[in-house]
Amino acid sequence: MNTPDVLIIGSGPAGLTAGLYAGRAGFSVSLLTGPEKGGKLSLTDKIENFPCFSTGSGIEFITKLEQQAKEVGVSFFNENVQQVALLHPPFKIITEVQTWQPKSVIIAMGTQVKWLNLPQEEMYKGKGISVCATCDGFFYKNKNVAVIGGGNTALYESLYLTNIAKNVYLLTQNKQLQGEFLLRQKVLSLANILIYYNTDVLGFVGNEKLTGLKIKNKADTEEKILSVEGCFEAVGFVPNTRLFQNQLLVDKNGYIKTNKQTMQTSIKGIYACGDIQETGYSQALIASASGARAAMSLENYLKA
Ligand SMILES: Cc1cc2nc3c(=O)[nH]c(=O)nc-3n(C[C@H](O)[C@H](O)[C@H](O)COP(=O)(O)OP(=O)(O)OC[C@H]3O[C@@H](n4cnc5c(N)ncnc54)[C@H](O)[C@@H]3O)c2cc1C
Repeated sequence: MNTPDVLIIGSGPAGLTAGLYAGRAGFSVSLLTGPEKGGKLSLTDKIENFPCFSTGSGIEFITKLEQQAKEVGVSFFNENVQQVALLHPPFKIITEVQTWQPKSVIIAMGTQVKWLNLPQEEMYKGKGISVCATCDGFFYKNKNVAVIGGGNTALYESLYLTNIAKNVYLLTQNKQLQGEFLLRQKVLSLANILIYYNTDVLGFVGNEKLTGLKIKNKADTEEKILSVEGCFEAVGFVPNTRLFQNQLLVDKNGYIKTNKQTMQTSIKGIYACGDIQETGYSQALIASASGARAAMSLENYLKA
């Protein structure tokens, strides 16, 4: 049985930073990369808001951080957690490969995209409907696409698509865009991003593939069809906390509750960091900072 001092679950900025700090503290650290190696930041082609990293891609960022963690002795395993027993030591983490029995655990499993669950959505997933512009934007060269949402993710997705698609229709239910000021400014400055405010998406239409969206402006009585070949949903995320139900305390939206000083969860020796815990801000810098906090706090736990 594998029994490291620290087992980190997740290979995004939170998990990798936790690994870097825990490795530097001299502990034996194993990290499970999970289904999305490198986490969500790997999906972005340009990071502009991480201090001292203003030009590279998400993959470049993650590769450097992974290298830093490896240099301090963190061991990486391409495994997915399927079951956990955390209520009391010895903690057990079960993957498709083996059972781990670590002295402490750092959960950095992030979130997954929320789907709209609208009529015909299931039918056109992968046939026009996507949740990842970096993965699927390429298929819509010089075509009209829609992005649904009005926050940071919708803005990132629209900006990525602006260089590929003919027109990007950004559909938000709100009177104005949400998200970071600079991103909003950029989106508003681009001629091929056309913003539909106060707009509800009611469903999808098409034949073999998607051909359009049913939309309705809140002020109108009639719905319209917006013709597009691609549609990118960017309406938020849900935390990957299903495995921890009835074991760790979560908030009303399912995010793990943590002590904001130590990142400890409701169980001693189990820490959570990054987007999976109630952070309020889904950003790489904030995920990394909470990963560092978790690793520094568990030093006290392991040395006690
Ligand atoms: C399109 C897009 C662009 C973005 N651009 C920026 C940006 O420019 N700047 C910025 O600061 N932020 C950006 N963000 C937000 C940023 O990516 C996230 O805030 C950050 O990645 C959160 O880090 P995390 O480590 O908590 O989780 P994630 O990065 O989501 O990583 C979660 C990790 O958990 C692993 N995992 C999940 N389930 C399991 C399991 N069962 N077993 C084992 N492992 C598991 C996954 O494989 C993954 O490695 C962007 C997000 C998106 C979607």
